[in-house]
Amino acid sequence: MSDSGASAGPTVARAALGCVCPRCGQGKLFAGLLAFRPACAVCGLDFSGMDTGDGFAVPILIVLGAIVVGAAFWVDTKFSPPLWVHAIIWPPVTCVLVVLMTRYIKSFLAAQQYSTRRSEMSG
Ligand SMILES: [Zn+2]
Repeated sequence: MSDSGASAGPTVARAALGCVCPRCGQGKLFAGLLAFRPACAVCGLDFSGMDTGDGFAVPILIVLGAIVVGAAFWVDTKFSPPLWVHAIIWPPVTCVLVVLMTRYIKSFLAAQQYSTRRSEMSG
């Protein structure tokens, strides 16, 4: 598991956490909430070929479901709010978390894909 050195760009983790271009680490990866830009505004790397697929939706559903249900149980035990409070709190919280997790996972997959392609090209 050695990172073959001499990589001027960001690490996969750094690109993923920053939601930035995996080559220069500066250009923004997303145009809106979840869509990739066509290309990096800083270094011009083409993002259109990056295909993250839909497979990441499954772990998001499982992990996020556990987190939200656990949080709902905790809030209910701790504060015993009426049911309508749960009905108001959890849908928006879930939506925000889904978008955040999807952004990080998509940028991670894009950075991973770029890193793999780059190392394949350089031999
Ligand atoms: Zn770039």
